[in-house]
Amino acid sequence: MIKINNKVIVAILFLFVSFPLLSDEGLAIYKVKGKTPGLTLMIIGGIHGDEESGCIAAKKYTDIKLERGNLIVIPEANAPAVREKKRFVNVDMNRIFDRDNGTAYEYKTVDEIKKLISGSDAVINLHESTKKGSVVMIDDKKLKKTADKVIKTVNSSTNKIKLVLYNYRTASKNAEHKEQRKSLTYYALYKKGIPAFAVDLSKSEASLDDRVAVQSLAIDAFMEEFGIKKL
Ligand SMILES: [Zn+2]
Repeated sequence: MIKINNKVIVAILFLFVSFPLLSDEGLAIYKVKGKTPGLTLMIIGGIHGDEESGCIAAKKYTDIKLERGNLIVIPEANAPAVREKKRFVNVDMNRIFDRDNGTAYEYKTVDEIKKLISGSDAVINLHESTKKGSVVMIDDKKLKKTADKVIKTVNSSTNKIKLVLYNYRTASKNAEHKEQRKSLTYYALYKKGIPAFAVDLSKSEASLDDRVAVQSLAIDAFMEEFGIKKL
């Protein structure tokens, strides 16, 4: 009988399956490197645990092959909340990017995500809401051109959901949603100078399958905008 030790089995498995890197906090991070150099796009799902379509869509990009550019994919940014199917466990992860410390696990995970944002050229954060209307959300008009192109591409590819642009104008004095200054996209754009977008699909407008399809179309369109090409 041929004896194969565990290391050999693990090595063989690595040939066929894509495995995440696990951060100290247990955050599953997938890095996909293209054949030729290019920009790095970070794709985040599950920053809110009850927003399933982003997790499922992001997972589809963890083992794709790229001709050019790179991806950093975190399908379940708040994995414990995803498991419990609720927005957050202790604290809303998308409202603590302005903070440097805290005792709940969410703060440590956000620290990990911040480090990864620094190694990215652009970020997309995948959300869902129970409100009416599906949007590509930006914090500043300087991202409008890219967001508009993505919206046009997605809307011309599907009639499941109609995306519209929503500019929070988060940094402006009379911003309607000042709480967004604690968000991931705001941190990326204003603290790191990295373009960041949120795709926020309405759960009431389409089935889960259709929302996953639209999230995927949006990811594809952003990849196209940043010159990241699939094999
Ligand atoms: Zn959300």
